[in-house]
Amino acid sequence: MASKGKRVTADCRKFPSKKKCTLTISGSMTEVYPMAMAHAVKSHGHKNTPLFRKQLRSTIK
Ligand SMILES: [Zn+2]
Repeated sequence: MASKGKRVTADCRKFPSKKKCTLTISGSMTEVYPMAMAHAVKSHGHKNTPLFRKQLRSTIK
């Protein structure tokens, strides 16, 4: 449903994480998603698994 160029936000407070991180990343889905994934892996120690990708994606609105 996310049309191309639509602005979405990844809110780190919604990530499945114990870390109190308040980072938000905004932009189009194609920009936000890889950055959010890189951040989650690097800063939060998440594994880039199909399940986590699905969870991450569901937090980006
Ligand atoms: Zn974070």
